[in-house]
Amino acid sequence: MKGCLKLKYLDRIQRLSELIKTTGKVLALSGAGISTESGIPDFRSKDTGLWNQYEPQKVASIQALKKDPKSFYDLNFKWWNVCLRAKPNQAHVALAQLEEMGWLLGTITQNIDGLHQQAGSQRVWEVHGHLRGCSCLNCKDDYDLEQLFQNYYCPHCGGLLRPHVVLFGDTMSVDYFMAEKVMSGCQLLLVIGSSLQVQPVASLPYLSRQIVIINKEPTAWDNHATLVFHESASKVLWDLVSIMKKQTGPYYTE
Ligand code: NAD
Repeated sequence: MKGCLKLKYLDRIQRLSELIKTTGKVLALSGAGISTESGIPDFRSKDTGLWNQYEPQKVASIQALKKDPKSFYDLNFKWWNVCLRAKPNQAHVALAQLEEMGWLLGTITQNIDGLHQQAGSQRVWEVHGHLRGCSCLNCKDDYDLEQLFQNYYCPHCGGLLRPHVVLFGDTMSVDYFMAEKVMSGCQLLLVIGSSLQVQPVASLPYLSRQIVIINKEPTAWDNHATLVFHESASKVLWDLVSIMKKQTGPYYTE
């Protein structure tokens, strides 16, 4: 049966551990749901998602930024401050440990919060950008994010500064195209905390031979998944790592 939702939780964890051990190239794809346990709201959770309150095109598009920079930054600074103050949770730490043990090649993330790197992940593709910098829409000069928080007009030419975040209406980031490349030959993709509704990222699972879904709510990909967990990401990944730690990593076989 696809998804194996009828199997008991611990049996599914055990199966996931075996799947990872016996599969060649394993990658993770994370979404906003992996960071909710760090206090950052996601977009599409039934009651708490940000898109229940706001319209994406009005608050997170390049058109919105150009039309009304003050409203755009008043709202986004609040959200970014939440991201910048957040700390990694057990799900981020578990992924970093899976990578360190050699079971996971790396993590493709839609998140801009930088929590995978803070947790120790070394190979991270930030397909929707990050909160480490900004650049001028006019002269293209780059600055760190501090400059944007102080004054969102360029100190060099007076042009409007924009964050290094992929906004609705932008072209995709270099990291996205690198992620597509790294997905080539992927045997197993762990999709964690993503509703898989935002394209083109929502199509990345097509590039993997098998997928496993770890998401509190059902997704459109559940029927195509080898295993499905409708539990919290931190619980599932922490339990998984606890089991994997008891076994020898692939690079340390005797
Ligand atoms: P989404 O809001 O569409 O989906 C999140 C999913 O995670 C939901 O289906 C929800 O049920 C699930 N979820 C929530 N908490 C969970 C938990 N603790 N454990 C397991 N599952 C949980 O998010 P998405 O798919 O990443 O949407 C893409 C967009 O969200 C991207 O554009 C991304 O840039 C943006 N985003 C990023 C952040 C961040 O950087 N932390 C926060 C909000 C939104």
